[in-house]
This record gives sequence, C-alpha cells and structure tokens, in this order.
Amino acid sequence: MLSVSMTDSKGQKLTTPRGTRLSELSLIRSIRKRAQTSGRGVAFGIGDDCALIRPRAGEQIAATTDFSLENVHFRRDWHPPESVGHRCLARGLSDLAAMGARPVGALLSLALPPDLTASGDGGPSWVERFMDGFFALAAAHKVPLIGGDTAQSPGQSSVGEGGLALADVVLLGSVQRPLLRSGAKAGDLIYVTGTLGGAAAELLALERDPVSFRGLNAATDGHPHLYPEPRIAVGLRLASLATSAIDLSDGLSTDLRHVCEESGLAAEIHDLPVHSLALEVEAKDWATSAVGLALDGGEDYELLFTASPRTKVPAKIAGVPIHCIGEMKPTRRGRAPIQMRVNGRKAGGRLVPVEPQGWEHFRQYKLLS
Ligand SMILES: [Mg+2]
Repeated sequence: MLSVSMTDSKGQKLTTPRGTRLSELSLIRSIRKRAQTSGRGVAFGIGDDCALIRPRAGEQIAATTDFSLENVHFRRDWHPPESVGHRCLARGLSDLAAMGARPVGALLSLALPPDLTASGDGGPSWVERFMDGFFALAAAHKVPLIGGDTAQSPGQSSVGEGGLALADVVLLGSVQRPLLRSGAKAGDLIYVTGTLGGAAAELLALERDPVSFRGLNAATDGHPHLYPEPRIAVGLRLASLATSAIDLSDGLSTDLRHVCEESGLAAEIHDLPVHSLALEVEAKDWATSAVGLALDGGEDYELLFTASPRTKVPAKIAGVPIHCIGEMKPTRRGRAPIQMRVNGRKAGGRLVPVEPQGWEHFRQYKLLS
C-alpha cells in the first residue's frame, strides 16, 4: 500500500497510455501533480511521512472524517464521478462549517477496483473524473490536499467487474471559538440556512431517471444532492452570532434532536423553508411529502444554529438566506423533545411530535435495491 505523502522512487512512468490502467504509483503521482498542497496553516503538505499543520496562536484544530461508500452513499450507475468527488469533500467541509472552522487541509484515502483507474473509450478514467469534482470544490474553498492513501479494492460490485469504490476524506480546520451543539439556551431562536428537502427530492429524481443526470459533470447551482454547497463562509460569520450549530447532514428531525440532547433542551418548530424541488415531488406518503422531505430527507448540508432572541440575525449571511424556524424550549416530562406547530406560528395551530427519521435515507429510498 502506498501513501500519497510517500516520496516516489525514480524511474516510474509518469503518464499512462490511453486504455490502460493507472498503476498505483502513477495514480498517486497524477493526484499529487494536480493537488494544491500548501495553504494557510499548512507547514508541509505532500512529500514526507506526515503533513505538518501549524495552527495560529489561540486557534484549535478541528478534525472530521467521512466515508463515501459505493452503494451506500453513491451508486456508480446513478452519480457522475465528478459528483462523487464533490460530495465526499462537501461532507467534511460541511462539518467544519458547523464548527465555525476555516478549512486547513484534506486527506483522501481511496480504495478502487482496477476498472475505475482505466480510461474508457479514449476519455478520462472514473478516478480522474472523481478527482475533477474533488479538486474543483477544494479550489473553491482553498483547501489543499495534504496527504492520503490508495489501495486496490477487493470484492464484487453491483455493476461491472471488480470491487466497490470506497473513499475516506479527513478534513482539518482551524477555529478560535468553536460552535458546539451544546451551547443552546432555552428561549434561543432556531435558524437554518437556505432551504430544506432539495437533496432528498433530487435523489428521488435521480433514482427515477439516472440517465438524464449523466451530463452533470461539474458543480452547478440547483443540484442540492449531486453538488451540495458547504456553508463555510456562513459558519465563519456565526462565531459572533450563534450559541450552537450543527450541519444538516442526517435530516432536520435527527440533527435538531442532537442539539436538543447536547444542550439538555427541547425544540418547537413553527416554520420550514422548503426547497422548490421538494415542493415539486408528487407525494405518495409522508417520506415523499414536502414537509417529510424537509424534515427527514437529509444531506442538504445546510447549517442549523441557535441564537439569543436579543441577537440581530441578518436575513442573509454570505449571500445565503437565513430563516428562523422555531425556538428552543425547556424539556418537559411527557413531551416529545421536538414538536412542530402544524398550522404555523401565527395560526396558533396544534403541536405534533416530530420523531427523528433522517439519516438512513438511502435505505428509505431503496438505494440498495
Ligand atoms: Mg455534521
């Protein structure tokens, strides 16, 4: 097994002829060649046994890791490779955003079956296209790739020959005042960035007709599942506004519950900004209703945060609309930790309990079928 941070030996092939498979070393060299490896807070990137991180005085290092597993987090016959690369970096960046951290560097470990490193029909290989998506988002957020690992993946895939593609991304960030899930106070107002349910709605459309999404090989607005936009700039601004924060990766009903549990509080929802794609879905049941998609769909990678009612929260932060969706409440015996006012705040509608039903949305939408 070779590491991206390993020094290459001399005399190795740098380029691979069309139609052949990249050797592991060639793959590492091609990734290293393309990677921006230095940045603020990085003393040394790729090229030795470890990268070296140099936080500024008064800063802490935030670290997070996320698996992206074929047939769990993506399907090769549904997702363009660029989208897989984008999404696996976006997940970690979103976690940094939720802590109010500035990205410092990423480490990428890839396990790939041999057919994904082969160029197909004269075009780039799956892994080259994966790296296109990864590096495009990395460049947008100035995140250097400071190390990683590659290996051949064993096992059988549901499509084609060979094993499954697996990626693990570690993100490191620096933060002066981290935003924790535990900081909310009773009476704090609850806010979310952007709109909710769009990613789950696009996943339904992808499931129905994957062919029509094949050409989406670069980050484009309006594709919240294939190309979610991590809210790094918003997270940095929240340090001076918010009392707690979390990113909406698993779905509002699950992620707000984490804030409730860590802060020892309950929550009441009175409003939900629903993504236009979720409004367009023909509802067959709760899971496909606009409210169900917004509450439980997951993977919107928006931020949820709480702030004191005395804090003036702008209607937009870093160009992203901010919506107040509810209020943190003291816990009360016999009352669900999260309740939603069904007819909105002004109508004084009745409160219904909201159970956490997010997270395993791929199973819910039969990704593995
Ligand atoms: Mg998170």
